[in-house]
Amino acid sequence: KLYNQLQDLKGNIRVYCRVRPFLPGQASGSTTVDRVEERNITILTPSKNGKDAKKAFTFNKVFGPTATQETVSHIIDLDIILSFMLHFSAAEVYADMQPLVRSVLDGYNVCIFAYGQTGAGKTHTMTGPNNPTEETYGVNYRALNDLFCITQQRKETISYEVSVQMMEIYNEQVRDLLATNEIRNGSVNGINVPDANRLPVSTTSDVINLMNMGHKNRAVSSTAMNDRSSRSHSCMTVHVEGKDLTSGAILRGCMHLVDLAGSERVDKSEVTGDRLKEAQHINKSLAALGDVIASLASKSTHVPYRNSKLTQLLQDSLGGQAKTLMFVHISPELDAVGETISTLKFAERVS
Ligand code: ADP
Ligand code: MG
Repeated sequence: KLYNQLQDLKGNIRVYCRVRPFLPGQASGSTTVDRVEERNITILTPSKNGKDAKKAFTFNKVFGPTATQETVSHIIDLDIILSFMLHFSAAEVYADMQPLVRSVLDGYNVCIFAYGQTGAGKTHTMTGPNNPTEETYGVNYRALNDLFCITQQRKETISYEVSVQMMEIYNEQVRDLLATNEIRNGSVNGINVPDANRLPVSTTSDVINLMNMGHKNRAVSSTAMNDRSSRSHSCMTVHVEGKDLTSGAILRGCMHLVDLAGSERVDKSEVTGDRLKEAQHINKSLAALGDVIASLASKSTHVPYRNSKLTQLLQDSLGGQAKTLMFVHISPELDAVGETISTLKFAERVS
């Protein structure tokens, strides 16, 4: 087990899975989730002849419906032991991602993707619920908060600057959510990054203000498009520049926190026009992302970055020394089983 954990730390691609709990008011009787363990999830697929089939998937980490957003690192060990005893993973989500996030301060590039069908909990993991509190904030806020804590601790030796960009990709067009322009590829310090407005942040209230601003700009277009948020990718990019106060050496890292468009497949016989076009763009870009990560995972020599805007934009943070976390989300309901299996297959393919 320790060996497995060391392997996890060494690899540049990891895949996590999170199961959303039943929502208040939902009948919680029937679920497709048969069993959740620290690294395994078993799905029950009902069949017409009454003989249900079970399918197991293994990932670097599986979070069950009782997992919280929090960072309670001192109880991790106890948690692992408990989850073994209960065959149920109850660890805190951010605590597991913390080393990955912190590696940005050592000059690594990191991508964290939230994948899954609409309603499965992507935004809950990345941003939190509506009107989040200290306890329910998602990864974006926790990551920045954590980076600020470490930069404070290191301030006698390294002087850090942190800045943030927010973008949205809709129908293969990239928009700057902090300036509402359409943007192109740009270059910052030799790293290929989107040429979007970059705003410095140094406190969590700066971050909350930016997140609200990005959220508002996203909402402007959603009135016409009706819940565009589930049909576009949104990306918060955190840039870190550290100057060693003794040697003067500069160190740079960046982290992309991506809330992907809903992965559900739409029935082509039922949608037309704009809705069909959106669906095709989403399918194409999620497939392209899957292809890129799968080819990195299999150490293939050709990595097909050019097949979507998303993979083009993030090219310098996918592969090489960069670290990737694909965080897939599933809904517990019985009638979501088709999408759940296809989400888990996507995840299996990139791991
Ligand atoms: P997505 O972004 O994948 O479409 P959301 O994050 O919006 O899905 O989740 C759908 C609903 O379920 C929201 O009301 C959200 O607050 C709730 N939810 C999702 N995941 C959890 C969770 N782990 N715990 C509690 N509520 C959750
Ligand atoms: Mg969402």
